[in-house]
Amino acid sequence: MPNEHIVVVEDEPDILEVLRYNLKREGFQVTTSLDGAKGLELILQKPPDLVLLDLMLPGLDGLDICRHLKNNSRMQHIPIIMVTAKGEESDVVLGLGIGADDYITKPFSPKELIARVKAVLRRGNTAILATKNDWVDIDGLSIDISKYKVMLHGKEIKLTASEFKLLHYLASHPGQVFSREQLLDHTFGSGVVVVDRNIDVHIRAIRKKIGDDQRYIETIRGVGYRFKELS
Ligand code: CA
Repeated sequence: MPNEHIVVVEDEPDILEVLRYNLKREGFQVTTSLDGAKGLELILQKPPDLVLLDLMLPGLDGLDICRHLKNNSRMQHIPIIMVTAKGEESDVVLGLGIGADDYITKPFSPKELIARVKAVLRRGNTAILATKNDWVDIDGLSIDISKYKVMLHGKEIKLTASEFKLLHYLASHPGQVFSREQLLDHTFGSGVVVVDRNIDVHIRAIRKKIGDDQRYIETIRGVGYRFKELS
């Protein structure tokens, strides 16, 4: 049983209870707050292993809290999952931009909630390893960063430098959603000459070359892209 500590900030009592109940049942320690400012205080007092953060909160809202934590050197490592309502995609993009790790959309199933929480906690432990790794090998697709080489089921795939950087970046963070802006910053920020700054164009080109029908790269509507978490 895990015993990681999770702080949940959510102003709708019913949803808060669903979150609390399901997390506790999985063995997590749970502290809750119905209020943004109090929630932030709880987090600062005793930094948890993960924060589940509703975006729309009276007073101090979820994005404010996220910004606050990510600007605090003692807190910025704490993973944050945003809890959002349908139609808040633009806020999700903002949240990802300021450092939130993932999001779930209401209504969600308990199974989905627990899966995302566990994935984010696991990612926290393996992220450093993954970025140091010269190799990404997922479900028939292997990416060799030192040789700039991509193989699909043993067959070499020719990608442009920007396509390669983009695919490698996504594939080394499986399960993590990125906005288009984040992908631009992370992949084309350093030294690559980009002919087209439109991420969608590059994704389309990669998909075509690796024959991907969202098996590897998923389009997250209104938000961006995610490399599928393969179990
Ligand atoms: Ca709310």
